[in-house]
Amino acid sequence: MTGRIREDVIVAIRERLPLDQVVSDYVALRPAGAGRLKGLCPFHDEKTPSFNVNAALGFYKCFGCSASGDAITFVRELEHLSFTEAVEVLARKAGVEVTYEQGSAAPRQQGSQRQRLLDAHRDAAAYYVAQLHESPEAEIGRAFLRERGFDETAWSHFGVGYAPTGWEGLTTHLRAKGFTNEEMLAGGLASQGQRGTPYDRFRGRLVWPIRDMKGDVIGFGARRLREDDTGPKYLNTPETPLYKKSQVLYGVDLAKNDIATRYKAVVVEGYTDVMACHLAGETTAVATCGTAFGPEHVQVLRRLLMDQDEFRGRVVFTFDGDDAGQKAALKAFDDDQRFVTQLFVAVQPDGLDPCELRQQRGDLAVRDLIASHVPLAEFAIRSALARFDLEIPEGRVSALAAAAPVVATLKDWSLRDEYARRLAGWLGMDEQAVLARVRGGAAPQSESGERARRRPAAPARPDPRDPGLIVEREVMKLAVQRPVMLGPEFDALDTVVFTAPAYAAVRAGVAKAGGTATAVGGNEWVTRVRDAVETDAVRDLVTELAVEPLQTVDEEDQRYASSLVARLEEMALTRQIQELKGRLQRLNPVDQAIEYNRAFGELIVLEQRKKALRERGVGAI
Ligand SMILES: [Zn+2]
Repeated sequence: MTGRIREDVIVAIRERLPLDQVVSDYVALRPAGAGRLKGLCPFHDEKTPSFNVNAALGFYKCFGCSASGDAITFVRELEHLSFTEAVEVLARKAGVEVTYEQGSAAPRQQGSQRQRLLDAHRDAAAYYVAQLHESPEAEIGRAFLRERGFDETAWSHFGVGYAPTGWEGLTTHLRAKGFTNEEMLAGGLASQGQRGTPYDRFRGRLVWPIRDMKGDVIGFGARRLREDDTGPKYLNTPETPLYKKSQVLYGVDLAKNDIATRYKAVVVEGYTDVMACHLAGETTAVATCGTAFGPEHVQVLRRLLMDQDEFRGRVVFTFDGDDAGQKAALKAFDDDQRFVTQLFVAVQPDGLDPCELRQQRGDLAVRDLIASHVPLAEFAIRSALARFDLEIPEGRVSALAAAAPVVATLKDWSLRDEYARRLAGWLGMDEQAVLARVRGGAAPQSESGERARRRPAAPARPDPRDPGLIVEREVMKLAVQRPVMLGPEFDALDTVVFTAPAYAAVRAGVAKAGGTATAVGGNEWVTRVRDAVETDAVRDLVTELAVEPLQTVDEEDQRYASSLVARLEEMALTRQIQELKGRLQRLNPVDQAIEYNRAFGELIVLEQRKKALRERGVGAI
């Protein structure tokens, strides 16, 4: 398998390729003062520029749609690439050679081996296409396609081909093109024969080229056509340096633009279903290749749906309503549920898959099927109900017993309560009774739904203009952008000085990254802090703090930094003094004289410290 890209490659890219140079390929940038650049955001529609680039630190942030990140994120999200692909693209631009971590004895070969394998696949795909069109023995394949309503234009659009029955058709062809046995074996195009000679992996089958997002062929899916073929109905490329079945989606090269612009992806089961959907006008359809739809496929679709903090699109699965489909739907509850509200199910009428549906009832029927989608949660609950006779009380009671645990598995409490209410409606039962049943099954006895809902959420993004937080924000900007100016003074700050949980979280990240006392700053420091924080939201905030200009003309001004810290401490002290004054008012100076005097003494000390800080804080905002 392809190893991880070596860290020094990424460092070399960062050194040689300034972010503004990468962004300028897509966005016109204008100077915005203090080393910052501004442009129209490529991630959302806007008329006035809110896309900010801090070229020195190598991070960008859009204050319109809150897209943020570094050069790699930028290329990934704009080009819909994986991390590795994005690094490879940037490396090419920077003139840096890509090397991989665990890439065998000769890791330097890895990059070029990938290209060799891609070339072999391109030639193989062309060979299969020519066979389908010309070879007499391919008639069985041509008939198969025509019977399913696919004409020659469709074959060409999808690059469908035919693998001849002989053992060495492709291997001979590729050898003549200069490919070695090792390359054919590594790419999964050939299998190892008994005497060491490789032979064609796919024989006597229709083959669909499987492409990556950029449109390069990385593998094949092959369908059995003949009675005497004892192999599986579908045979796919094995795991290779190019082909990772947990990530590949058939049709993604054709669908990616429409998925991104329509915020929708349709997941079907087979190659012919993808073809049928696209030909019927549902051009966002993709299929997994010989494996169930899994978390890595979700990642691929999320990248296409261009979400930043939230998953904006809809993913519609088509199921034939059988057990397998229901199991897949139910499994989604066990997996990461962050996206459960974006998952939908379209149940095929009469168990017809999209290919059959198009053959029998035409394009419109396919589009109707997709349009009929219901939320995955609803599908799962209704599937649980379907086994019972809801006309009789015993049936309804049993159905509640079966469906309540399904509703209870929903991790989002408000969504869960909503579905409990709907379940009550479907069963014709009392809402409160169903709610109680669902909640009872979901939470441990000590924890009521109310309490659970009040659990602290991830820190919210503070408003950058909140006047009460402006000093906290400015100090955190310094800590991220110019840690040297703060030095040990920042590390020594009491945690209570940060009142916004999000800033406190960034501060914790700064400490975890080693603190400002020893930090030198620059891109490496920002990256370290980003890696040290707990959540994606806080990570985005770090980027935001790195990009936003400081509120001072002279960014090297040491006095500005120390006056800000003094001001921050003074504000914390003011809060403490107010608390203490409140306590004094509640105390009785006569009956509680000892406590009163102690608090009064404390107050005087605090007032004196505050006065000293106030003098140091002159010049701060
Ligand atoms: Zn934007």
